[in-house]
Amino acid sequence: MSILDRFRLDGKVALVTGGSRGLGLQIAQGLGEAGAAVAFTARREEGLREAAQRLREQGIRCLAVRCDVTDYDQVVAAVQRVVEELGGLDILVNNAGATWGARFDEIPLEAWDKVIRTNLHGTFYMSREAAKVMIRQGRGGRIINIASIAGLRGSDPRVMQTLPYNTAKAGVINFTRDLAVKLAEHGITVNCIAPGFFPTKMTRGILQQFGEVIRQHVPLGRLGGERDLQGAALLFASEAGAYITGQVLAVDGGMTAW
Ligand code: NDP
Repeated sequence: MSILDRFRLDGKVALVTGGSRGLGLQIAQGLGEAGAAVAFTARREEGLREAAQRLREQGIRCLAVRCDVTDYDQVVAAVQRVVEELGGLDILVNNAGATWGARFDEIPLEAWDKVIRTNLHGTFYMSREAAKVMIRQGRGGRIINIASIAGLRGSDPRVMQTLPYNTAKAGVINFTRDLAVKLAEHGITVNCIAPGFFPTKMTRGILQQFGEVIRQHVPLGRLGGERDLQGAALLFASEAGAYITGQVLAVDGGMTAW
């Protein structure tokens, strides 16, 4: 098999959480272009419908599944539906996430819970159910967690007051390492992408206020673009990345390099 063939995902089934817009949709599109059938989840029907239409227009076989990743029963049902309708599950991308901006002493307790539950509980619930399927199938698998460079360090308080988010994403990073060790015997790799700043609904507010300051802190001189996460996701998802597990890759234009 040539190296380019090792990046192809023909015959594979991928599930991307929070795939109705933003980075999840970008990743779903990348995996679909590489040949995978792609299921994706979100809570809102409208977003699911629009994303499904967009992927189908690009010739990608896809399945939209309504699912709140913080609800374990919904996660179990979603994974079951993907397996039934697409015939299995080979790649899970834990992308659904949420944040909250407030000074540490003013964060509503419910907001702390929501951020931790979405980023961390959701990632655990989905990984648990998907890994069970992958182990049962007996042909290995791939889990890719979307953390953030905010999970690697503290953020400048003048720009980001997001203590629960930084905390949850740091949790996602070490969850990745430990799960990778635990699932290695089944041929399932677990890796993590830590994006820098990409313009999406989540970052709209912060980029409106601080976009220029942030850009000046990116060595490559620009924010992340519509295809910038796809390469890292495809490496971790494909045969080309078969010997990589438990790793965290920042896709941030070099922000964490200085
Ligand atoms: P968006 O807010 O644009 O998209 C979030 C997606 O997740 C939507 O599809 C949303 O759909 C879904 N979602 C939110 N909560 C839940 C839930 N409880 N259950 C299921 N789906 C949910 O965010 P981004 O695309 O910017 O972010 C995607 C991931 O990338 C997140 O984990 C984020 O933390 C991370 N990230 C983003 C960065 C950026 O610069 N944009 C930088 C670093 C990391 P719906 O609301 O319908 O449920």
